[in-house]
Amino acid sequence: MILSGRLADLGCRSVLRIRRSAIRWNVEEIYRFSGKKIIAVVKSDAYGIGVKQVAPILRELDPVDSFAVACVEEGVFLRELGIRREIIILGGILPEELEAVKEYRLTPVVSDPEHLKVIGKEDIRFHVKYDTGMGRLGFVDEIVDDPRIVGVMSHLSTPADREFSLRQIESFRRIAEMYSGKGLKVHIESSAGIVYRVPFATHVRIGLALYGEKPLRDYPLKLEPAVSVFARVLSVKEVPAGFPISYGRTYVTEKRTRIGVVAFGYADGLMKSLSNRGYLLFEGNKLPILGNITMDMTVVEVGDLGVKPGDWVSVVDESRTFGDLAREAGTIPYELMCNISSRVKREVI
Ligand SMILES: *Cc1c(COP(=O)(O)O)cnc(C)c1O
Repeated sequence: MILSGRLADLGCRSVLRIRRSAIRWNVEEIYRFSGKKIIAVVKSDAYGIGVKQVAPILRELDPVDSFAVACVEEGVFLRELGIRREIIILGGILPEELEAVKEYRLTPVVSDPEHLKVIGKEDIRFHVKYDTGMGRLGFVDEIVDDPRIVGVMSHLSTPADREFSLRQIESFRRIAEMYSGKGLKVHIESSAGIVYRVPFATHVRIGLALYGEKPLRDYPLKLEPAVSVFARVLSVKEVPAGFPISYGRTYVTEKRTRIGVVAFGYADGLMKSLSNRGYLLFEGNKLPILGNITMDMTVVEVGDLGVKPGDWVSVVDESRTFGDLAREAGTIPYELMCNISSRVKREVI
């Protein structure tokens, strides 16, 4: 939902705040650790954070030498934001997208003979992808040779599994060797894969770590959380013992309880699986979630913290990342981030 005119600053009771300095730091840290230029992965609206806010920050940073998105439409959007660097389309190319790929000078990843057919004799540069054990996109047995190839890539399926990843990297090394001496971009490392410091790769392909989220528990890079999410308190009241909370009465108070109603629900991205399990934060204090999370609101226990209507509570902040929340919700930070909806106002500081 986008408000226009004099109402544009009103916001919808919740804010996702992006810290420019943290993104800058993370890019430098990735560059320092890997020694390679960065392909910044900003697919799916920059992992739900807001590509309109994130791309202009990344564009100013030297180590970022290209961008990657999932589909042609996202690539066109990036160009229209004024991004001049290479824009890689990870999801290949479909016939009806050919004109846009040409017009917007996008760089598709070819992972299927059909992609080559779509490209035909057009003057389109592309990367070619090999499947070394991801079991998704990429050639398995076939080797593609074409003067328009500007990059060769593969993807790790299980970066936490050292033995399997090293086998994938070795298969990819043999493939990449066939393209050596042509000045191609060679890339296989994602945020988690970066720990393998692949010596023959020229680039790393990084999404999650840009935003300060750790892809592995033991992660050697020192990242700064770049994203916080806050929401307003709408109402605070005291209810007696034995009082049911929210739809389905899945929680009933055991004692007299002060509850707060927060303007953030599953439509904003707070997964319903956190009902009766997770917590929100007020000035560093945990506010346990009571009862079912609803579409637009969540009920929390506020105790004697002095929370009042209009106050801000945090869903995610520097002390509790998407990764922490994901563990509580039984999912991964990627999914939680992508779920933050467009009505949560984006703000860059
Ligand atoms: C999304 C994606 C990445 C980035 O992964 P992160 O774990 O976010 O760094 C890299 N490569 C491919 C092919 C992807 O789809």
